[in-house]
Amino acid sequence: MRVLVKGGGVAGLAVAHALHMRAAAVTVIDPRADFGQAASWLAGGMLAPWCERESADEAVLRRGEDAADRWEAMLPGEVARQGTLVVAPARDQSELKRFSSRTTGHRWLGEDELAALEPAIAGRFGQGLFFPREAHLDPRRVLTSLRDKLAGGGVNFTSEPQPKETFDDVVDCTGASRIGRSRDLRGIRGEMLYLRTDELQLTRPVRLLHPRIPVYVVPRGGGLFMVGATMIETEFDGPITARSLMELLNAAYTLHPAFADATVVETGAGIRPAFPDNFPRVTREAHAVVLNGLYRHGFLLAPAMAAEAADLVFSRNFEGAHAS
Ligand SMILES: Cc1cc2nc3c(=O)[nH]c(=O)nc-3n(C[C@H](O)[C@H](O)[C@H](O)COP(=O)(O)OP(=O)(O)OC[C@H]3O[C@@H](n4cnc5c(N)ncnc54)[C@H](O)[C@@H]3O)c2cc1C
Repeated sequence: MRVLVKGGGVAGLAVAHALHMRAAAVTVIDPRADFGQAASWLAGGMLAPWCERESADEAVLRRGEDAADRWEAMLPGEVARQGTLVVAPARDQSELKRFSSRTTGHRWLGEDELAALEPAIAGRFGQGLFFPREAHLDPRRVLTSLRDKLAGGGVNFTSEPQPKETFDDVVDCTGASRIGRSRDLRGIRGEMLYLRTDELQLTRPVRLLHPRIPVYVVPRGGGLFMVGATMIETEFDGPITARSLMELLNAAYTLHPAFADATVVETGAGIRPAFPDNFPRVTREAHAVVLNGLYRHGFLLAPAMAAEAADLVFSRNFEGAHAS
């Protein structure tokens, strides 16, 4: 079976992988070979369904809890299973209690346990929450490695328009570019930055709670840290605003003052595609299966949703083969 996958972000690559594993002949088309239009390139890469449950439906936990296993199967060695640490400044301790009451899969840590887990922030927070089953990955490494692995396995990557009639099916994974064409799809702007400092080391994502701007810091290794991310109901995709930059930097500084002397390596802003319930959908539309609406759960939910999209492709084309 020949399948055209439109879009080479995390959704498109996960779908291409699922189809390739079922022996489909897959072509991935994306006008940008450098991930330059992909929200996926800006992601934190947290596979954190228990933390996300604080504001997300049960379905996100149910569909996301084996995400680390799925990524590990796709790309052995790329998943760091170090859990997530959640802390709050002394004045925001009520936020930590609230977070704890809205989530499961965690345990409370006192100051000493916190220090043992992340020595760099020892003494800065009196208590914290640890989510041991959570994991993270480096989205840029994962996107590049997955594309290379698929290309090496015979998946065709192109930026040239493809004649649809040469394919048995099409899967549309074009993310936020479908806003205005997919009913109910909207954009949630996420701004982030990369900081570099050799002054501290973290092993796992650390979430810093705040009533207005909860922020996380994800270590990438080699002194590089991703700090994210704003959640703004707008489709404006221009550069990071001064306000967001200040807020993200403030939060990083609250986590550790060494961030004050870090260099700002990169800033970015991406649009997360979302449906009203903030849960992704896999649907069959006129001439394509559409996977979209991954919201802030692209890496968390893409593997499970990609399997669903591949099911839809194979069920339709299997039925078609029997009818003809
Ligand atoms: C700052 C930030 C932090 C995030 N952190 C996390 C996180 O920690 N964990 C997590 O799970 N998720 C996270 N997310 C969410 C995640 O990044 C998104 O859910 C995910 O990237 C959406 O993937 P996608 O493949 O649907 O879209 P995209 O990554 O945007 O990819 C769409 C692709 O389609 C291409 N395209 C557009 N039009 C066409 C066309 N006509 N034909 C062919 N191709 C086309 C584009 O060039 C692009 O490459 C974060 C998002 C942001 C912005």
